[in-house]
Amino acid sequence: MHIPFNKPSISGNEMAYIQQAVESGKISGDGMFTKKCHKFFEERFGFKKALLTTSCTDALEMAAILINIREGDEVILPSYTFVSTANAFVLRGAKLIFADSRKDHPGMDEALIESLITEKTKAIVVVHYAGVACDMDIIMQLAEKHNLYIIEDAAQGIDSYYKNKPLGSIGHLASFSFHETKNIISGEGGMLTINDEQFKERAEIVREKGTNRSKFFRGEVDKYNWVDIGSSYLPSDIIAAFLYAQLENLEKIQDKRKLIWETYMEELKVLKDVVQLPVIPDYATNNAHMFYLVCKNIEQRDALINYLKEKNIHTVFHYISLHNSPFYKDIHGDRRLPLSDFYSEGLLRLPLYYELEIDQVKAVSKSILSFFKV
Ligand SMILES: *Cc1c(COP(=O)(O)O)cnc(C)c1O
Repeated sequence: MHIPFNKPSISGNEMAYIQQAVESGKISGDGMFTKKCHKFFEERFGFKKALLTTSCTDALEMAAILINIREGDEVILPSYTFVSTANAFVLRGAKLIFADSRKDHPGMDEALIESLITEKTKAIVVVHYAGVACDMDIIMQLAEKHNLYIIEDAAQGIDSYYKNKPLGSIGHLASFSFHETKNIISGEGGMLTINDEQFKERAEIVREKGTNRSKFFRGEVDKYNWVDIGSSYLPSDIIAAFLYAQLENLEKIQDKRKLIWETYMEELKVLKDVVQLPVIPDYATNNAHMFYLVCKNIEQRDALINYLKEKNIHTVFHYISLHNSPFYKDIHGDRRLPLSDFYSEGLLRLPLYYELEIDQVKAVSKSILSFFKV
């Protein structure tokens, strides 16, 4: 039996809605299903405005444009994150200031951020790693005190909460991903959420190639013009059709993922002194985006990956610390970020997808226990 790391799945009406989108005669952006998705997100999670994009990467690029990132601005973000969190701001000329991770969790250490703020700092980009919230009260207080923008990279954070507030509803702007490895998927796909009113109108313009076409379609202007910079960030309605079917089954998908996550935790908690296991702080909820364990070093992790591979179980690691990346290490300099490197070398993600059977979760766990001779 082969257990892949991830498997995209159909939850219900995906194919039927794609057909419906095609038959409706409009499959470009902002069609019927895109509108349904926007409404779903705004109603269910209280985002002031939701705009589907073709990826989370795009949503982050839009955020960088909206907050007017310019040459010389500094942006604080974790080093242990996906490259898109960083690239979006570098594209606008920002200098990246990397923060280290927490000891108990790969997320950015909130306590370290203030020491990185300078006169040039324009924004903090927080990443809710594994869908577990950063301590947003601390972050929002820093924003207020130093007059900064907060962007939440909530790529992994759908249906997760910080003190009862949905992730993606707290910062000025936030991004989500519906890539096939996330909880709710559309193959590729993403969303920008706008919580600060000042960005509402301009976000539509940036998303529509710098034009006021959205206003035109609503009949608010009689022709549309080029009014700002922008690009093409809106997805086809075929993508939105697939996504809407997933959203209809959000609860079902989440319940299954949580069951898988809890089974892993139950089976593997005996390893708590051998490897680092996920922790969910009191202020956060668990959306079961990811189950990981952190080995003591890269040799142990490689040995575990190979051991599981021989049993046909596919596990993956990710995120080579960005401050050590070939592209950025010279600009970063030699300020050390030991915890980011620790997760980079030790963290291993276990299979977690909707169709994974509980028996399989137990089999994976059993193999891991046998590797550690527990
Ligand atoms: C997946 C992911 C992204 C990128 O999402 P795409 O939709 O593939 O662009 C960005 N940031 C984080 C933290 C992610 O996990």
